[in-house]
Amino acid sequence: MKIRYLGTAAAEGSPALFCTCASCMQARATGGKDIRSRSETLLNDDLIIDYSADAYWHGLRFNVPYYNIHNYLITHAHSDHFYPMDFENVDRPFAKNPDDWPLFTLHGSADLEEELIRVVEKHPERLVFRAMEAYETYDVGRYKVTPLRARHGTKNPFNYVIQDGEKTLLYLHDGGAPFEETYECFRKNGFKFDIISYDFTEGLQEKLDYDGHMCMGQNKELRAYLKEQGFLNEGCIHIANHFSHGGLCTNWVECHELYEKEDFQMTYDGLEIEV
Ligand SMILES: [Zn+2]
Ligand SMILES: [Zn+2]
Ligand SMILES: [Zn+2]
Repeated sequence: MKIRYLGTAAAEGSPALFCTCASCMQARATGGKDIRSRSETLLNDDLIIDYSADAYWHGLRFNVPYYNIHNYLITHAHSDHFYPMDFENVDRPFAKNPDDWPLFTLHGSADLEEELIRVVEKHPERLVFRAMEAYETYDVGRYKVTPLRARHGTKNPFNYVIQDGEKTLLYLHDGGAPFEETYECFRKNGFKFDIISYDFTEGLQEKLDYDGHMCMGQNKELRAYLKEQGFLNEGCIHIANHFSHGGLCTNWVECHELYEKEDFQMTYDGLEIEV
């Protein structure tokens, strides 16, 4: 399984457009890996996880052939994960594909439908939305995907377990600590993870006083619990991703060694990992 992080920031990007905080000013000065665009991940070469307002830029920067990628798995309706307006362009005259070109399918929870309905109605022969229920397992292209209910600020946000027949990814963006029913789902399905992408919006903080995102202290606890419960495969890789300038120490150049010391690999835009 090959995972390529195309965008690794939270909603406002990092540096944030209108912000002059120390983190944003440092990111502007350093550039390179400290420039984080909004969330998007490419799995192997055929599944996009989240399609953010920076997807067009990711396509150009990382040579992503969206025209050949037909499955889009969306976690929730925040604009750093879902930007439906681009799908206005899936059909003629904006996209000139042969009549038998495969459909583009967006998969996610039913509450994305409200955002999408206008776009899908315009292009019923090109674009499909498939609503999924939490804790059921679905075929998405060649993958098995199990949505998990997430603790986050939209109506019905999902995290995902994604299996490609060999390896299993746990994708925790965006969300706070998993619900108990999520652990029950892991037990029922016998899930064991090879790679976990953790929500690190609040960076190196030990504690948070709100639900909906995570920090180092909470992620260390979560990892220890997953290990104790037998949910980790030998050699499981732990990834720190989804950074905000508001979190503690979230720029790559200055901070990545601090994450590595805790055995979390810190993402940057363009990072590719193979498990
Ligand atoms: Zn986000
Ligand atoms: Zn800032
Ligand atoms: Zn969000």
